[in-house]
Amino acid sequence: MKRDYAVIGLGRFGGSICKELSAEGRQVLAIDLDEDRINEFKNIASHAVIADSTDEATLKELGIKNIDHVIVAIGDNIQASILTTVVLTDLGLSKITVKAQNDYHEKILKRIGADQVVHPERDMGKRIAHNIISNNILDYLELSDDHSIVEVKAGRKMGGNSLAKLDIRANYGCNIVAIKREKDINVSPAAEEVLNEEDILIVIGADKDISRFEKHLVID
Ligand code: ATP
Repeated sequence: MKRDYAVIGLGRFGGSICKELSAEGRQVLAIDLDEDRINEFKNIASHAVIADSTDEATLKELGIKNIDHVIVAIGDNIQASILTTVVLTDLGLSKITVKAQNDYHEKILKRIGADQVVHPERDMGKRIAHNIISNNILDYLELSDDHSIVEVKAGRKMGGNSLAKLDIRANYGCNIVAIKREKDINVSPAAEEVLNEEDILIVIGADKDISRFEKHLVID
């Protein structure tokens, strides 16, 4: 049987991925060393198996090669996380997402062939920090080292003005890609769209440009 996903390591992060994928109706093979964790996921994942993921023969037996996407969510044991990633790349798996504990771990994972490295604590920390700095920054998503998407409240400086009048792209170099107004979302809004104070703007751009935009047009 072809399974869609495998989640290795069922801590808070891996466990949450496993639950969400299963809730979306995906086939998930859940793997963990710990019997209690496996018992917890027996009725959630399609298959839950006690196994050591650093052991290539075991992973082969479990049919890992038929899995489309493997998520390695072993946190604290960096050695096990690295070894598991090496085994998976050696087996020729192409889609491997690995959770990194720190920047050094991330660097190694990328070098040994993990095609996606996630750093949930760091990324969530950044998002919350941006939210704390400004009450009007509602959410923040890093796109690269120097580009992001932010959600900001239009507020009184922008409210009542059209996008054409504000001319955010020309003045600040960033783009309003969507406007959320109550339950509606207006993607690629027209230039003549007039903003309400309560509108939520989704802004994309270089960090330095977003920062200028925030300083001038977004008020706490
Ligand atoms: P989180 O930060 O997601 O909350 P956690 O602290 O709860 O993680 P960790 O200790 O980081 O959990 O490990 C996640 C899981 O990975 C644990 O349940 C652990 O048993 C499992 N694990 C560790 N090493 C291996 C391994 N070699 N093979 C399979 N599972 C492993």
